[in-house]
Amino acid sequence: MRERDLLEHIYRQNPTLGELVSIPPGDDMGGLLLDGRNVLVTVDQLAQDVHFSLDRATLAQVGRKAITRNLSDVAAMAALPLGAVAAGSLPDTWSTEQADELFDAMRATAQAYRCPLVGGDISIWHGPLILTVTILAHPAGLGPILRGGSKPGDHVYVTGRLGGSLHTVGGPTRGRTHHLDFEPRIDLARALAERLGPGLHAMIDLSDGLGVDAGHLARMARLTAEIAVDRLPAGPAAEQAGRIDGLPAWKHALGDGEDYELCFTTDPHAALPDEMLGVPITRVGRMRPASPGEAAVVVLGPDGKPLDVGDLGWEHRSP
Ligand SMILES: [Mg+2]
Repeated sequence: MRERDLLEHIYRQNPTLGELVSIPPGDDMGGLLLDGRNVLVTVDQLAQDVHFSLDRATLAQVGRKAITRNLSDVAAMAALPLGAVAAGSLPDTWSTEQADELFDAMRATAQAYRCPLVGGDISIWHGPLILTVTILAHPAGLGPILRGGSKPGDHVYVTGRLGGSLHTVGGPTRGRTHHLDFEPRIDLARALAERLGPGLHAMIDLSDGLGVDAGHLARMARLTAEIAVDRLPAGPAAEQAGRIDGLPAWKHALGDGEDYELCFTTDPHAALPDEMLGVPITRVGRMRPASPGEAAVVVLGPDGKPLDVGDLGWEHRSP
């Protein structure tokens, strides 16, 4: 069983969902019309030893991430969070203090992003920790920005610095591990949507790696994304990862998951500064018409010629 096959099976049923569905499955959040207004919803699950290890993360970090990961999807729509509910299956070996550390972090994080935790459910079982968080959001006058709105000739941008998200930068005790400590880009997404208006065509948050996620934008618009290697904003963690495994930092910027930055496409006439709200904004490529059977993402080397990135394991093809 592959996640991708399962999702495609679900998306095939989209046309039968009914007129109150404003955003069907396949975007960063689903949408429902409530009294004519869009309510957005997303759900995400964190499973111990699949998405995190308690050898390398504190319970407070796991609780924080359970919330921020969902909030990154809210950012991808340029929406504002409304509130959250959470369900947890906790190991029967845990103490009350452990459960408190987890839920205190979830509540505090949700509160910090003005997304109150308004309910939930807990079960105790003879298995690992599993946390499921659902967040509701609303467009609040902007967007929602969907994944499929890119047009031929659009510029492709990313926020922040990419790659090496699983590596701790700055020493093992006081360092930052991006996949645990990242800030969901809610304010930045709002600022981009406000500044660009209808010139902001499509957006996604980077959870699976730029190569894969830019592929989602391209395929949903039936286009090909061209990404220029020498424009990729590889961060210090990507350099560090490269020193360990010998790969160039750009491969980490392109292939590593869990950046939780934004990738978006704009009208080519829209101008953006190099930085907004203290976060780098980098143009990494463009969208162009796809040839049949061509990859949804084509990576161009410094000489402008396509590079073979087969070792990064993408499976996306244009329709
Ligand atoms: Mg997402």
